[in-house]
Amino acid sequence: MAAPCRLISRLAVVSGGGSGIGRAVCQRFASEGASVVVVDCNEEAANKTLELLPHDRGQKHVSLGMDVSLRKNVEQLINSVQTQYFQPPSICVSAAGITQDEFLLKMEEEDFDKVIQVNLKGTFLLTQAVSKAIVSAGISKGSLITVGSIVGKVGNIGQFNYTASKAGVQGLTRTAAKELSRYGIRCNCILPGFIASPMTENIPEKVMSKITPFILMGRMGKPAEVADVCAFLASDDSLYITGVSIEVAGGLFIG
Ligand code: NAP
Repeated sequence: MAAPCRLISRLAVVSGGGSGIGRAVCQRFASEGASVVVVDCNEEAANKTLELLPHDRGQKHVSLGMDVSLRKNVEQLINSVQTQYFQPPSICVSAAGITQDEFLLKMEEEDFDKVIQVNLKGTFLLTQAVSKAIVSAGISKGSLITVGSIVGKVGNIGQFNYTASKAGVQGLTRTAAKELSRYGIRCNCILPGFIASPMTENIPEKVMSKITPFILMGRMGKPAEVADVCAFLASDDSLYITGVSIEVAGGLFIG
């Protein structure tokens, strides 16, 4: 079956696009016809993603190395996108994220702050900048997708900072949906479970073997399986969906 082409003429910004889930999202969006702005703090990784993107539908992709947790960078990003493309992005996926795991009793304040700064504030800055650009351009359609985590709902030992950041992402997405629906902008959050990516590659085998029995699908997910859901949320196939969180977790912790 031919891949769908639901994103022709759309412009998408994807943070964390240099790796794992973000890279898979860039690939999926490009294969569906979107022009993609690949953003990552690792410039080399962002450039590598750029090389992987198909452009057989006349799209123009670009990559950019930048830290999404700094307002100045995010504002410059959106200005430069508008200058290059003569339009704001109408799709945004905030997938940049980090972990700094430690038990609550041992966690340093700076490790708490760093994770909140990237995962929560970075999502706020990008979501705000893209929505402002869409509203001032008078575009009547936008899809903003944030990346939370299943552990933001249920908690996870050793991830006091990360779970707080991801619960926050879910909350801000619902609020964004309430405030932005009047402008035709939909905002949804995806909650991945355990997805095989550089972020999870150091989880010890003995820990994964304890988690796997709680995953109905009996395995970790693939970044492309998360990208499938992002493409659905970005496309007109989900025009009546906003303010929701979608678990992409293979049935983890449902019972
Ligand atoms: P990943 O492979 O580590 O990719 C994250 C990317 O974001 C990396 O390239 C990283 O660069 C980049 N990044 C980190 N801080 C940044 C910043 N301040 N500005 C711009 N880019 C930054 O992780 P992933 O598994 O694809 O995760 C993607 C998203 O899904 C994250 O938000 C993560 O929390 C979430 N998630 C993942 C899982 C999972 O099981 N993998 C589960 C639930 C949620 P560096 O490598 O240089 O840090």
